[in-house]
Amino acid sequence: MADEIDFANDLMDVEVSRAISRMRQQTAQSSEGSKTCVECGDTIPDARKKLGFKLCVPCAEESERQKHLYAD
Ligand SMILES: [Zn+2]
Repeated sequence: MADEIDFANDLMDVEVSRAISRMRQQTAQSSEGSKTCVECGDTIPDARKKLGFKLCVPCAEESERQKHLYAD
């Protein structure tokens, strides 16, 4: 009887840890694209990300500079 309960617990553990690792993978994948700069891959600060920026500060400044260059 005790063996059966242990067996059931083991099964539960396997299922739970599988579900957790699946969730972790999905979270890592879904946040990968939005959390990092599309230009250099650096992490974008949360505050910046919420404003919808896809570039980190240095890359944004660089692209602004280039826009001005082309405008002139
Ligand atoms: Zn960047």
